[in-house]
Amino acid sequence: MLRLRPDGGVRLSEVAKGLASSSATASDAVSALVKKGLVSREQAADDRRAIAIRLTSQGQKQAEQAASWPDFLLSAVEELSQEEQTVFFRALTKMIRKLQEQGKISPSRMCVTCQYFRAHVYDDPDRPHHCDLVNAPFGDRDLRLDCLEHQERISAQT
Ligand code: SF4
Repeated sequence: MLRLRPDGGVRLSEVAKGLASSSATASDAVSALVKKGLVSREQAADDRRAIAIRLTSQGQKQAEQAASWPDFLLSAVEELSQEEQTVFFRALTKMIRKLQEQGKISPSRMCVTCQYFRAHVYDDPDRPHHCDLVNAPFGDRDLRLDCLEHQERISAQT
């Protein structure tokens, strides 16, 4: 979350929501990262009373590493055909969504929970879905797990 919001920073309440934890727990986690020099707490540019949490340059480097898939997983996925990768990714997306619905992991900004997402509106098997935001079709391979433009909607599609 912090990696994707380098400019404005993130408020503590958003961090707590992202971690699916209380503000106190999120505050402890942020304090630990501040002590390690990975995160800074500064006055928010748009609200003098608010605190914005940002990655330091060292934190940014570590976040980039953490966000990339471990090499052994990537090489295993590369062994799959393109079709198998698509099926795997779609199944992974469904599993994440189910775990989110069950409250076992925190919500993320996935296409399948976005108000701009239209599932299976085209006959083209490679690009059956539509994103209203960019007004373009796309396929399962391009379903996003963490989109900055995501807008939550009340009921999700598959
Ligand atoms: S705005 Fe992002 S999350 Fe929403 S449908 Fe388009 S690509 Fe997916």
